[in-house]
Amino acid sequence: MQENTQPKYKRVLLKLSGEALMGDSKFGIDPKVIEYIANEIQDVLELGVEVAIVIGGGNFFRGKALFDAGLGRVSGDNMGTVATILNALAMRDIFERHDISTRIMSAIPMSGIVDYYDRHKAIRKLSRGQVIIFAAGTGNPLVTTDSALSLRGIEISADLLLKATNVDGVYTADPSVDKNATRYQHLTYKEALDKELAVMDLAAFCQCRDYGKALRIFNLRNKGALLKIVLGADIGTLVTN
Ligand code: UDP
Repeated sequence: MQENTQPKYKRVLLKLSGEALMGDSKFGIDPKVIEYIANEIQDVLELGVEVAIVIGGGNFFRGKALFDAGLGRVSGDNMGTVATILNALAMRDIFERHDISTRIMSAIPMSGIVDYYDRHKAIRKLSRGQVIIFAAGTGNPLVTTDSALSLRGIEISADLLLKATNVDGVYTADPSVDKNATRYQHLTYKEALDKELAVMDLAAFCQCRDYGKALRIFNLRNKGALLKIVLGADIGTLVTN
């Protein structure tokens, strides 16, 4: 039988949490993990699919945790925002070494190190096969990079939003605690809200719902999962209206 090599989506936006870059460490970046991610993305690019990434910063700082520890909320969020740029720099370095042409577009200017976010340029570069890493979230405090996923996803007209987690999708209960937890294959935004499932931050979640963006939550640690998804496989949990 002939293998399916026809992608279902033209442009995807992948949200990676900072934690996804830590590997087995408790903080920071494991370059080997980024190499793994580069290989997963390379396979998708070879199909002609455009790939943009929103990168988190939780492997360094999260505003809420800093606030709980005694810092001001806005300062903490600003620190988390800068942390996303650290991750983006590490990713660009390793992606480029894998011959993946990569641009970082940051929501806050950092001239000479990264590009400032420009929607038109981002779309143009994506259509030329370059990977765009959106850094610095939305540029505003009091939200997380989930909000950057919904915002940038709508702005660049991504066909599918992907949220990579370290579990295989959205479950009826925490699978690490409850052995009987089962995975939802498909949810509507309304069902997820009614069931109070923590899929992503509420503001981002509502924006995805309001603009009818399809969102798939999956485990990037499953090798080949990203490729299978862009080829149409029903992996993880799909959330739609
Ligand atoms: N952040 C922010 N505005 C944004 C995006 C991020 O203030 O638009 C801050 C916020 O404090 C957040 C931190 O940066 O907690 C790191 O982002 P996130 O928590 O989304 O990282 P992840 O959990 O995905 O690694």
